Amino acid sequence: MTHIAGVTATTGARLADLTTLRIGGRPRALLECATAEAVVAAVRALDAAEIPVLVLGGGSNLVVAGGDLDLVVVAVRNREVEYLTGADDDRLVVRSGAGLAWDDLVADTVGRGCGGLECLSGIPGSVGATPVQNVGAYGVEVAQILHRVRWYDRATGVDEWVTPEALGLAYRTSVLKNTDRAVVLEVEFRLDPAGRSEPIRYAELAGRLGVAPGERTDPSVVRRTVLELRCGKGMVLDDDDEDTWSAGSFFTNPVIREDELPTVRSRVAARLGSAPAEQMPAFSTPGGIKLSAGWLIERAGFGKGHPSSSSPARLSTKHTLALTNRGAATSDDIIALAREVRDGVREAFGVELHPEPVWVGCHI
Ligand SMILES: Cc1cc2nc3c(=O)[nH]c(=O)nc-3n(C[C@H](O)[C@H](O)[C@H](O)COP(=O)(O)OP(=O)(O)OC[C@H]3O[C@@H](n4cnc5c(N)ncnc54)[C@H](O)[C@@H]3O)c2cc1C
Repeated sequence: MTHIAGVTATTGARLADLTTLRIGGRPRALLECATAEAVVAAVRALDAAEIPVLVLGGGSNLVVAGGDLDLVVVAVRNREVEYLTGADDDRLVVRSGAGLAWDDLVADTVGRGCGGLECLSGIPGSVGATPVQNVGAYGVEVAQILHRVRWYDRATGVDEWVTPEALGLAYRTSVLKNTDRAVVLEVEFRLDPAGRSEPIRYAELAGRLGVAPGERTDPSVVRRTVLELRCGKGMVLDDDDEDTWSAGSFFTNPVIREDELPTVRSRVAARLGSAPAEQMPAFSTPGGIKLSAGWLIERAGFGKGHPSSSSPARLSTKHTLALTNRGAATSDDIIALAREVRDGVREAFGVELHPEPVWVGCHI
């Protein structure tokens, strides 16, 4: 693989050094790909040789097993950014290499006075991974701002631009999540060059900004406020803060059928009383009723920092939804804690939690 232009191959790398959870063993090799063409050539060659591939961005949504891993890591590192005017009605389009750090792109667009990406400030990882799980935060999802994706389709061998419809984007998922379908090479997002943010839909953010829900405002103020809110929850990476040594929110918010809601409320009432049952967050979405995983975890008895200050794996002390590695945790420690929380919520309220990260060589 070293003979492919733009590919730097090494052996002896550890996924623990390449993931935000800081856990994971040694792949057969690590291929750092500086261009989209290098990514395509590397993945094409590995697929032809039937060698298992892990496509890696920032490693911020992965739980990886320890030990020797029978796979080759293809790290996507192409980082060019281009602004395309007149590409789509009155909007501006930004095109970014998949390997750029997502927050660098957000900062660049906001710094130029463009609106669109500001609510997604501070999310770790790469641009190329954002369509994979339809990244979202503070009332905005990538699906709302995505223009096109250039991908390498691993089944057909074609390198092509596709529209968002091809991606099957839904709540924290797409046709790319947990599949080997395609590698994202470049992504285009629609921006508002007039400097208006996306409508502020998230109540906590609207309150902090002092705007009415649905109003647009200055993207740089939104970015600053989102970063403050995220820092308070340990959701911005910080080498000095073990609460951020995580894979982000470990469970997605569970979506239940509307007719299941009364049963869940009555289980909450039986355990905690009628007031919490009435106050339990429940939002109507096209897919059903979305509950708050964090609320359920906490009310099932798993407080911040669970199980104890000496445990190698524990819930963040700032946010019950994040499972953290305090430095010495293994994937088995994370799995044991994840099972305890998932099973505890099921037992308490009859609600099934589903993990958000991608599992490599291990599973819950
Ligand atoms: C502190 C913290 C906060 C977070 N907050 C949020 C949040 O608010 N909202 C949210 O949605 N997520 C959040 N996350 C999760 C994570 O940051 C996102 O899912 C992010 O998009 C993952 O990007 P990555 O480059 O690190 O992907 P990786 O972890 O490297 O990979 C994740 C998956 O995507 C695949 N992948 C990566 N790059 C590509 C590519 N170019 N083409 C095809 N597949 C690819 C990988 O193979 C893997 O299956 C958070 C994580 C952390 C640690």
